[in-house]
Amino acid sequence: MMHKHRVHCVGPVDTARHLAEKLTGTTWCLCTGFCLEGHPDYLWLNDSTSEDGAGEFGILKRTANGFVQVESVTYSWMTNGEALKSIEAALAGEFDAQGWPVTIQLDEAPKHRCHLCA
Ligand SMILES: [Zn+2]
Repeated sequence: MMHKHRVHCVGPVDTARHLAEKLTGTTWCLCTGFCLEGHPDYLWLNDSTSEDGAGEFGILKRTANGFVQVESVTYSWMTNGEALKSIEAALAGEFDAQGWPVTIQLDEAPKHRCHLCA
């Protein structure tokens, strides 16, 4: 993650297809993260520099020693189909070998608010 001190609020998405639609079709608050139901070990965290810039998300995987980032993807430049492919590849473990350790901060509070989304 380029933004090492950003706190993310992760929300669940029901299918990879819906996640692809969200990642390509919408500009998200910079503190937004997603997880996919049935795949609790993977997170998509907004790593964009600004809400006006390219929509960049880091893909993270939970391991025994914390999180590793396995990929960084500019979803705003992708079609739905391309985004879906990257999501499915991540879930299939295709990026796992290139993962690098990262420190992330998640806000588990039900009513998240921070300076990025206030
Ligand atoms: Zn926030």
